[in-house]
Amino acid sequence: MEKKVTKIGVMTSGGDSPGMNAAIRAVVRTGIYNGLEVYGIMRGYSGLIENDIFKMDSRSVANIIQRGGTILKTARSKAFTSPEGRKAAYNNLKQHGIDGLVIIGGDGSFKGAQTFSNEYDIPCIGLPGTIDKDIAGTDVTIGFDTAVNTAVEAIDKIRDTMDAHDRLFIVEVMGRDAGYIALHSGIATGAENILIPENKTDIEELICSLTEKEKRKKLVNLVVVAEGGEYGDANKLAAIVKERIPSADVRVCILGHIQRGGSPSCEDRLIASHMGYYAVESLLIGRHNVMIGVVNNKIHYTPLDKAVKEKQKIGQEWMKIVKILAS
Ligand code: ATP
Repeated sequence: MEKKVTKIGVMTSGGDSPGMNAAIRAVVRTGIYNGLEVYGIMRGYSGLIENDIFKMDSRSVANIIQRGGTILKTARSKAFTSPEGRKAAYNNLKQHGIDGLVIIGGDGSFKGAQTFSNEYDIPCIGLPGTIDKDIAGTDVTIGFDTAVNTAVEAIDKIRDTMDAHDRLFIVEVMGRDAGYIALHSGIATGAENILIPENKTDIEELICSLTEKEKRKKLVNLVVVAEGGEYGDANKLAAIVKERIPSADVRVCILGHIQRGGSPSCEDRLIASHMGYYAVESLLIGRHNVMIGVVNNKIHYTPLDKAVKEKQKIGQEWMKIVKILAS
């Protein structure tokens, strides 16, 4: 029979995303409601190895649901990828008597959790906290909605000045390996072309479409490119376009880290609160080593080993829709 969990730790790991604080709050308050002791672990696996762990109460998470970033800070830890690092992490957990972990992060963080839970008797629950939305087993991730709305708001502003000057703008959004922010923000702002890492970029097709629009006197042209696109960064792409279409007035805007910050949207606060609640419930009922997701508006559990093997795929019909709507 599985041991009953009595003391749990919560951490944020990898890249930060808006809504992580709402998830921490939900874990802490649901844990305390159920009679558990809850410990905050600073800076993800780094803090775990360095024993930067403290006991939390309901007040520790007061007034944070609306704040971006993460009160527990986040980090990437090379040490945790080694058996020695994980052993040190385990010893620290034992010292505090912590017998369950909630990890809020991306697929890298889940790989760490999966390895750790295979080696040691510490059940781990993953909550998908990433602006990239590329994790399989969930339709939504904590932070994507806020990040994509930040991108949309910024691109709308760029469109105003683009229109005033008849310019071609190349806007780079975040997404080294995932094109969701580019795809969603591009469609929502009426981009003529969207370049994402999941698709091979046909540069001739792009030039052809831009040239054809110039001929038709469609003077405003917006290209949204994910940072991991084949020709991203956006500056490289702009250099190619300028060379091939010398008459075009090409400008570049890289949105960068503003997409990670800011107050989480209502949607992200709800997702985070919902997932945080079910993370604790899972630990309590012995549904261990799973990632909590939402599929078709219902809570969905994916074993961590499966969650780290697959990526959420972008439906190809979206790219067809982009072409039709931008004509
Ligand atoms: P993001 O999606 O924002 O990049 P992430 O969670 O994928 O977030 P990573 O840097 O890939 O971010 O992973 C976070 C941490 O997880 C790493 O710094 C490392 O400590 C741990 N980790 C990743 N992969 C492994 C692994 N195979 N074994 C052990 N630990 C790992």
